[in-house]
Amino acid sequence: MADAPISPRTKIVCTLGPASSNREMISALMDAGMNVARLNFSHGEHSTHAQNIAIIRELSREKNKPVAILQDLQGPKIRVGKLRGGSTTLTKGQQITLVFGLEQTDDNIPIDYRELASDTHVGAKILLDDGLLGMTVVGIRDSMVDCQVVHGGLLKSRKGVNFPDSNLSIPSTTEKDTRDLLFGVSQGVDYVALSFVRTAADVLKLKQMLRALGSDIPVVSKIEMLSAVENIEDICKVSDAIMVARGDLGVECGFANVSAYQKRIVRAARSHGKPVIVATQMLDSMIENHVPTKAEISDVANAVFDLADATMLSGESASGRHPSHVVNTMRDILSRVEESGMLLPGDENARIFTSTATPEVVARTAVELGDTCRASAIVCLTLTGNIARTVAKYRPQTPVIALSPRPDVVRKLSLVRGVVGLQNTMFFDTDGALHEIAKAIVKRGLAREGDLLVITGGIPLASMQPTNLIKLHRVSKEDVL
Ligand code: PEP
Repeated sequence: MADAPISPRTKIVCTLGPASSNREMISALMDAGMNVARLNFSHGEHSTHAQNIAIIRELSREKNKPVAILQDLQGPKIRVGKLRGGSTTLTKGQQITLVFGLEQTDDNIPIDYRELASDTHVGAKILLDDGLLGMTVVGIRDSMVDCQVVHGGLLKSRKGVNFPDSNLSIPSTTEKDTRDLLFGVSQGVDYVALSFVRTAADVLKLKQMLRALGSDIPVVSKIEMLSAVENIEDICKVSDAIMVARGDLGVECGFANVSAYQKRIVRAARSHGKPVIVATQMLDSMIENHVPTKAEISDVANAVFDLADATMLSGESASGRHPSHVVNTMRDILSRVEESGMLLPGDENARIFTSTATPEVVARTAVELGDTCRASAIVCLTLTGNIARTVAKYRPQTPVIALSPRPDVVRKLSLVRGVVGLQNTMFFDTDGALHEIAKAIVKRGLAREGDLLVITGGIPLASMQPTNLIKLHRVSKEDVL
């Protein structure tokens, strides 16, 4: 194996925000190991997002390091309106009234959801600010909802509101989402994440919107509602990737359920061969502190043991005190766990992928060959990235290198566990290609003379065939020259 280890295999998603929306910090995040930059469209202006996108693309070229950009749409997130004075204190037992509105005009609390009164019912729970405050509906008068405060505290403007036991009629994409999507497509983002997915139909609707815009940007479904957990198999079938959005998941489904639901969601995504991100509060205490808690280290480790594709940082990289230090810490934990020898090799949770399509069989065989022959890498020549994703879903011990002439494909593979994407010019003749491939990989420090590579491709190369070939290639002296 070459000196430069492909580690960690688990990818890191960083949310950009006020603490990281500048060239120096984005550069530091990339050096520390950011693979995917998440732009959270619940916050920030288009101009700031556009600036961040330009910086990432420029630094990516300069550093020759692919970084995927994930646009996270706000979705049907319901929020408290603007409160007079910015906040109000709610006390246990207090009776308050919620009304539709964007700004507070009287003693009632404004909520930016018009159908509030018709969608909820007496006895329903309403949670605010990620569940820190809670109330119960005690009466409904026309468009006004009377509530009794159960858990009091300081309520600030624009805090999120969850209705865990109400069936909301709010559409899965809002007008704001449509505006943001247009922006994302025009900027060429690599992934679009959809918040508050309830059913597969929500995902299909977004895909339909993307198609209408002439785009096939892959969709990441954020699983944060009970109905999404219940519909997880169908959602996985139609999504391109999955995010375990544990913040809202905990509020919507009950905090005690988060761990078991996380396992269920990761398992479902993996069984469908879809990349899966574990998100929210992974190193939360590091928003302030220099070191993580032991519980946070275990939480990150748990995602690695489950062979998730990526772990995500939110406030830690968006608004924390030392974003790049947190990424270094995350990378360290991921590498240590992966190298600990404690990961189960034949993961019993993985579904047996039984497809007999040629690329699938080639992928399965390449993994078997790579792991059995202790190859340095499985090298996938790929136009669309599909074969690299297919190989990666088997979670080989052997690292996967994807060579593609398409920069967008290389960027998208930044989300997939264990895959290193390299851009190359298109190969046209098979013999010459094998030599060029080995040379490119040696040059990047990913293999050296004598190493074994398992190479997959589609021949004849010039006619862009789907994968139909496996070649065991020993790196020769000529490849190194
Ligand atoms: C979450 O709820 O965990 C999440 C990732 O979504 P957001 O940050 O958009 O609330």
